[in-house]
Amino acid sequence: MARFSIDLKSGDLSNQPNEIIVGIDLGTTNSLVAYVNEGVGVAVKDENKKTLVPSIVHFGNSGRIKVGEEAHRMLVEDPQNTVYSVKRLLGKSYADVEQIESYFGYDVIDDGTDNLVKIKVRDRFYTPTELSAEILKSLKIKVEEELGISVSKAVITVPAYFNDSQRQATRDAGKLAGLDVLRIINEPTAASLAYGLGKNDDQKIAVYDLGGGTFDISILHIQDGVFEVLSTNGDTFLGGDDFDRAIVEHWINEHELGSSLKFSGKSGGQALRLLAEKAKKHLSSNDDYHAYLEGIEFALTKRQFEQLILPILERTIACCQQALKDAKLDVDDIQHVVMVGGSTRVDLVKKLIGNFFQKPVYDDLDPDEVVAIGAAIQADVLAGNQKDVLLLDITPLSLGIETMGGLMDTIIPRNTKVPSKAGRQYTTSIDGQKNLKISVFQGERDLVEHNRKLGEFILRNIPPMPAGLPKIEVQFIINADGILKVKAKELRSGVEQVIDIKPTYGISEEDMGRMLLDSIQNAQTDMNSRAILEAKNEGNHIVHSTEKFLEQNKEVLSPSEVEGIISLKNDLKSAITGDDKDLINSAIQDLNLYSAPIAHKVMDIVIRKAMKGQKV
Ligand code: AMP
Repeated sequence: MARFSIDLKSGDLSNQPNEIIVGIDLGTTNSLVAYVNEGVGVAVKDENKKTLVPSIVHFGNSGRIKVGEEAHRMLVEDPQNTVYSVKRLLGKSYADVEQIESYFGYDVIDDGTDNLVKIKVRDRFYTPTELSAEILKSLKIKVEEELGISVSKAVITVPAYFNDSQRQATRDAGKLAGLDVLRIINEPTAASLAYGLGKNDDQKIAVYDLGGGTFDISILHIQDGVFEVLSTNGDTFLGGDDFDRAIVEHWINEHELGSSLKFSGKSGGQALRLLAEKAKKHLSSNDDYHAYLEGIEFALTKRQFEQLILPILERTIACCQQALKDAKLDVDDIQHVVMVGGSTRVDLVKKLIGNFFQKPVYDDLDPDEVVAIGAAIQADVLAGNQKDVLLLDITPLSLGIETMGGLMDTIIPRNTKVPSKAGRQYTTSIDGQKNLKISVFQGERDLVEHNRKLGEFILRNIPPMPAGLPKIEVQFIINADGILKVKAKELRSGVEQVIDIKPTYGISEEDMGRMLLDSIQNAQTDMNSRAILEAKNEGNHIVHSTEKFLEQNKEVLSPSEVEGIISLKNDLKSAITGDDKDLINSAIQDLNLYSAPIAHKVMDIVIRKAMKGQKV
């Protein structure tokens, strides 16, 4: 049987010896880039000797984009046009972010659909992928300046709990930044690699990651060089920021500042918060802290600090207990505990976690850098510089199917280990649709017309249902010989169809190399075409549902409401005929803003009628 005939050791098509592949930790608050120099992982520093780049992007009125420290300063000056924590939105739909939307200081556009979120800055709409790409571009420049060579390949880390779509969005961000993303690896896996764990066989590891705003605990099983995530747990809104808040509250109570204007509001509150963070950091290596602010002495002992944060740390221990339970393990089964994230510098954190797991924790490496360094080590393995690590066969190019408007929907991304299985659910776009064509493609471009068609088949005899109701599951299964089986099944009726494909048949290594290069060179154009097509698809969907809504509710709508909706719907229709995605997105937003309260009103009327027993 044919295997993917590329350099399986590296998963790479144009691999030169001693090439530098970088490791990137794309974080919620901070990001950093690292590489391996003579066997040692090094995080790249800026001119101020800082390795951390704040994951913040600012858009100036002249179109200038600032990233990192420069953007951080704009958070206070120009918050409307400064985007932070974009990782929380990566690969997520509007429906996913509904609950956390109020957390962001910028405009997250919510149209209540399942479409991927966009962020509005200065009348332009950006995807979280595009914003993450800006952060990655700045890291690429940073490492290129340090090394004096151009860097085009990277390993990027993601949280262990990231789903397919979040991982794909991270890959796309890399591509858009001009990087060939050789692997996406889990953050806890990277942290374990940084400590050299993984070479000794068969062990179970806990990775405790407490950052500024998020907490994750992961339980890993390492066997034959393969890292398997057994369980993850955590809290996406728990971290060092909560320590700072606890100190601020303590000081406000102590000095009865509750009604003081000086210490409330944006600047006063901010100043006290910064002082609290300073105190916290000071207490990592000292027993007490005191400082004056506005003539008041603010003091804190280590003992007081530890009492304040104990309830927060107990919440993390409850997560560890749950993670062990989910992995069906006891504390005794865990051989090593790895500390990650700036907040694990606090003594009490290390002490409590060490006590809980009944063993000393790994904390020798800088907890802010450990993930990026682990990613750099994985990158070094891929570059062929470390010989004693096992690498498995992988898929050389992504595999996926064509969706609405000729878009490529990747189901198995390139560099996935084989054998492998992945699936996704789709639905119909037309009422009563009986057949669905499944076209299978291979390649990295966003539009299927630029990729290689591997085959197609038609799933027939879907029972007639309204558009959106059928649940069609498409599964891709690659066996160890590289044969791809594509299965489509309508889950409500059980109708099923299968084909077998040999993805490597008739394709040379050169062709694959060319396809890869094309995808990186055209990433920006592809991303734009995808954004336009997605906006059009979303717009068409909304036009269709608005027309249905008008038809079904003519009796309860006032003439002015009908007129208003029709006029905005027509604006959207005309925007869809053009190729300006921002115009289409604006028209969608306008129509949604206008029709949402009307839809609520109609819903109330319908419910009231139903309660009265009337036919509705
Ligand atoms: P991260 O998100 O991993 O970059 O972690 C940042 C968090 O670590 C912030 O809440 C910082 O205040 C905290 N941090 C950084 N250094 C220290 C330190 N020496 N002691 C306590 N917390 C720290």
